[in-house]
Amino acid sequence: MGLFRFPFLKRNPPQQNNADDPSRVRGAGELTLRLFGISLRVASVAGRTHAGKIGLMMLMAWIFLGVPDIDLALMPILHHRSIITHSILPALVFLILGRSLGAAPIAGALIGISVHLACDMLSPMVGFAQIWLPQPFLIPLGPLSYLWLGANVLVGYVLALRLAMASLHPGIAVPFAVALSGVTGAAYGALNEQSAAAVMVSVLFPLMTAGWLFLRSRTKAA
Ligand SMILES: [Zn+2]
Repeated sequence: MGLFRFPFLKRNPPQQNNADDPSRVRGAGELTLRLFGISLRVASVAGRTHAGKIGLMMLMAWIFLGVPDIDLALMPILHHRSIITHSILPALVFLILGRSLGAAPIAGALIGISVHLACDMLSPMVGFAQIWLPQPFLIPLGPLSYLWLGANVLVGYVLALRLAMASLHPGIAVPFAVALSGVTGAAYGALNEQSAAAVMVSVLFPLMTAGWLFLRSRTKAA
């Protein structure tokens, strides 16, 4: 465990230019995420152990795995598979309200939601499986449901991986995030009798996202 030392726990002054360089962001002890033109600073909580961060990330992934289906409790206003809860919106609300909790729990929440949405893409988009607009429309998106879910899953994993990389040891951040996503997908799949496919999408989506982030950082550096 002596190998895990965190450069971002040192309180270096924030760097003004090059704010997107991940090593500098880690050095500054917090991460700036840009969302719809709004810059959000997510704190790195000083003093929290690596094990603590990993535990919180897992806990939030499993809590948020079930969050999209709270539409079932709001049935008179929302349809099941509502566009409102079957999106990364609940995780974004958590990101905005809970950003002082640190990057790891928010990364976990984003993974939980992304797994749920990725697994929901496995069912054919007919009837209740489609994404539905809320009242007063209450109409389904049809095949566009795939596009809605896929776009939310990809944005969810981009944010989750960036937060994980800012919070966990650089060597384990991506493998751990992908593994957590796969295990969470297995749990979701076990409940919905589609385990193998659920694990596959829950591993493939974050791997694709990690590959894209890696290529993007290389072209930036070149
Ligand atoms: Zn669902």
